[in-house]
Amino acid sequence: MCKYKEDVDKMCWSYSRLTSFEHCKYEFYLNYIVNDNEEYLSEGNFYAEVGSYVHQILAMIFNGELTPDEASQYYVDNYDSNVFYKTRESTMDKTFKTCADYFATVDFGWLNDYEILGVEKEVKFQLEGYDFIGYIDLLLRDKRDGKIVIVDNKSSEYPFKLNGEVKAKSKHSFETYKKQMYLYAYSVMQYYGEFPKEITWNHFKDGGKFATIPFKKDEYEAAVKWFVDTIHIIEKESEYEPNLDYFYCKNLCNFRNSCEYIKMKSSEKE
Ligand code: SF4
Repeated sequence: MCKYKEDVDKMCWSYSRLTSFEHCKYEFYLNYIVNDNEEYLSEGNFYAEVGSYVHQILAMIFNGELTPDEASQYYVDNYDSNVFYKTRESTMDKTFKTCADYFATVDFGWLNDYEILGVEKEVKFQLEGYDFIGYIDLLLRDKRDGKIVIVDNKSSEYPFKLNGEVKAKSKHSFETYKKQMYLYAYSVMQYYGEFPKEITWNHFKDGGKFATIPFKKDEYEAAVKWFVDTIHIIEKESEYEPNLDYFYCKNLCNFRNSCEYIKMKSSEKE
């Protein structure tokens, strides 16, 4: 029996909650069950902060608040008031330049073929009796065939090889990102009564290359089953064991400065 049944029962689920549990049960426990505790303060990181800043500028462009021509200068002018976390100097310089290049060269002419249905669109829905929330970066309707497309802005590397296969190093993350998009496909069906025809990732740190896959019913059903099965596992969880993945723990985890497991691991290394 889960020790925290009450907390779990009233949870509003999301892609990030469930993937957080899959990655490190202890991080899930600190983030969503302990939640807002002085001893375990949740903090962001450089990579997430730059990603949010780029998402924010893209949303402004898609909402018509900024023209594509203004975006590059806006990015440079407002970078320091949006990105505060630090990491290695060389990584920060490279990331700043990669995103600046993206905004300086990106061409949104392709948008003329689409009607924008939503930008950072909040979707709330129930899946097998569980409450879910999500935010779709960009939801479009293709004017040429009237069908819906889900677009997600991603900071990760473009995942496909020249022959169209997924690169070995991108396989795990690609499968995870697909689950998120299929969860949003479920919400698209709830809101619009139809599934999207395609899912597209905009890899803005990889020259703005689009990775597109068709909606596949079998993959969708497997993803939906994964979300429900994972909730069932959490409902029975009582140990919340850590997953000590050293790079993630030291650089990306929101509890990297308070988690006792990584502190212990670091002191063993010294
Ligand atoms: S630092 Fe590592 S072990 Fe600790 S909560 Fe974060 S991911 Fe889990």
